[in-house]
Amino acid sequence: MTIRDTGHNSRVLGSVESWLVSAGRDRRPGSPLNVPPCPASNFVLGERRAYSRDDATPGWEALEEIVGGLEGGSSVAFASGMAGIAAIFDQLPTGSVVALPDDCYQGVAGLAKVGQSRGRWTLHRVAVTDTARWIEMCSLADLIWLESPSNPLLTVADLDTICTAPRKRGAILGVDNTFATPLNQRPLALGADVAVQSITKFIGGHSDLLGGVVTVTDANLLAGLRQARELAGATPGTLETFLAVRGARTLALRLERAQQNAMTLAERLSRHPNVTLTRYPGLASHPTHEAARRQLKGFGTIISFDVRGDALAADAVCAGVKLIQHATSLGAVESTIERRASITGQEHLPPALLRLSVGIEAVEDLWSDLDRALRKVAEV
Ligand SMILES: *Cc1c(COP(=O)(O)O)cnc(C)c1O
Repeated sequence: MTIRDTGHNSRVLGSVESWLVSAGRDRRPGSPLNVPPCPASNFVLGERRAYSRDDATPGWEALEEIVGGLEGGSSVAFASGMAGIAAIFDQLPTGSVVALPDDCYQGVAGLAKVGQSRGRWTLHRVAVTDTARWIEMCSLADLIWLESPSNPLLTVADLDTICTAPRKRGAILGVDNTFATPLNQRPLALGADVAVQSITKFIGGHSDLLGGVVTVTDANLLAGLRQARELAGATPGTLETFLAVRGARTLALRLERAQQNAMTLAERLSRHPNVTLTRYPGLASHPTHEAARRQLKGFGTIISFDVRGDALAADAVCAGVKLIQHATSLGAVESTIERRASITGQEHLPPALLRLSVGIEAVEDLWSDLDRALRKVAEV
């Protein structure tokens, strides 16, 4: 895959794999190959940097350069994905209209609901697949928020149609691109104004940090996001950005391996006697498989499936796996599994739905772990 130069990055970017390995480095003679952590709040006055909440540290900028190149825009790094998303919502004037998918990250749904209850905006929930309604929302709403594939049902929105629909003057169309990663999907190239990555997930990739990066193409929006970060103080930590850059170096390899594993596991799960439904955009049986094929370079590493029986049966699978970690979050080297309806704000989901984030372990080890845990359920 070749990164197209949108003009927001001065360099010729070349292939994603090489960009991930080479971007965000200080090339001056004598510089360390990797930008070291810079534990500084303030700097000797007289140069560009005075105070890091206002002026960033070199480590944040390295991460911003890497992700900006991948997404095809200019990036702002935040303390978490939610901090970045909150900064986007913060751009809205009071009395705005927000359109949000019916299936989306529970933190974003929570943020939108709280804002509505405080009179900041009115909220419309729209089914991910209701493209006609999304097009309508583009001309009505001030913020059109999309997440594709969605969490945890993995529904793929018709982004290429929605992102090019005529928008209300000044409206912001944002895409949470965390599940796809910029390697599988580039919303800005499709016409979105904002692409969001929770760095906590695939780019960090090792379950050891919180971070977020928001990427935009509009200079005013970029200035607004930087101001929001500065005023709210939602700045990324220096160790976190160092680790995120380290994680980004291997993103292409990790994603390729985990995606292969996910495809194999999804196919086998879909035939398992103790699984009643398997959702994976790569399966022909998935309701939005065609959109996934059209829009995504790869089908991702997340599978959600329903265990035969009730919540207790699904909990028993989580308790039964040994190699797979019973933990929340996703996008790391290790596979994690979780019953999503047990999460606050996700009680509406099927009670026996498990979300599996597939890691880079040997696929046969993952399968025997899952299969053993699933078979035990039948014996209960
Ligand atoms: C995790 C996640 C977020 C929030 O990111 P944090 O880094 O946890 O704040 C937002 N959107 C999606 C899709 C996520 O998976």
